[in-house]
Amino acid sequence: MTARLLDGKALAAILQAESAAGVAEFTRKTGVKPGLATVLVGENPASQTYVRNKRKACEKAGMTSHVLDLPASTSQAELLARIERLNHDPAVHGILVQVPLPSHISESAVVDAVAPLKDVDGFGPVSLGLLTAGRPRYRACTPLGILNLLQRNDVPVAGRHVVIVGRSNIVGKPLALLFLLKGTDATVTVCHSRTPDVGAVTRTADIVVVAIGQTHYLKADMVRPGAVVVDVGTNRLPDGKLVGDVDFDSVKHVASAITPVPGGVGPMTITMLLHNTLEAAKLQTAARG
Ligand code: NDP
Repeated sequence: MTARLLDGKALAAILQAESAAGVAEFTRKTGVKPGLATVLVGENPASQTYVRNKRKACEKAGMTSHVLDLPASTSQAELLARIERLNHDPAVHGILVQVPLPSHISESAVVDAVAPLKDVDGFGPVSLGLLTAGRPRYRACTPLGILNLLQRNDVPVAGRHVVIVGRSNIVGKPLALLFLLKGTDATVTVCHSRTPDVGAVTRTADIVVVAIGQTHYLKADMVRPGAVVVDVGTNRLPDGKLVGDVDFDSVKHVASAITPVPGGVGPMTITMLLHNTLEAAKLQTAARG
């Protein structure tokens, strides 16, 4: 068997065109141009690439990109003050602070500082709390991208057993909550570094999602024949090549469908950021009357 490829790049192009149409209509009706502020602290090359791609996608969709590039020496107090200014800027509807942050800055303090209505990344405690309560406002971009990738490729989710490897606040945990929502209706198991035999659990899955950041971790013998495999990992090999957490070349012979790296989950994440920013602009414009 060779698995069907779940092509995130192709789907992202379609969904980004839909977002651009949505932005154009919203701006025509309201005179408001959605604005996304992207905050980058320091010069991590991978982060610079991610932020550049987000800014480009945002402008292509007809949104205003507010750019804030700060030196690695920026203090936590200075960063929090900058975020507070963005919280009160009516032209900014969404705020994204690229992680990782330099080690002297607390990521949770920064996440907590973003106004809940502008938390388009969906990492903040209010966004996560609403998702947990079953009435999501902004769903975290990578989890939402994964769900869209499955649904738009007609992969059934309701009643299926989804096993997620990884329990971070930005991928594993919100993804589990998203799959559990009424209307999505998956049965969900989450594994992490203290799970004794991850393979024994993943072999029971209809859908396996791996988000741990370890090159080629998921091997063919950890996958039930015919299962769907989603690879969130982005790992750089010494030669610069980008690879995922799934041993793609062996797993593709066992799975029925699989996401590639690159070109799978990554482009979907950026696309959902545009989606959430447009939602944020709509919510804030309605709230201002
Ligand atoms: P974190 O480092 O925050 O979390 C990793 C998780 O994996 C933790 O829950 C950890 O468990 C678990 N884990 C680590 N090793 C193992 C193991 N051997 N067996 C089982 N579980 C393990 O990572 P992120 O969630 O931020 O990111 C994960 C990967 O996804 C990275 O490669 C990242 O670059 C990528 N990523 C890709 C995105 C995209 O758009 N494509 C977006 C976001 C992330 P524990 O909690 O016990 O420590």
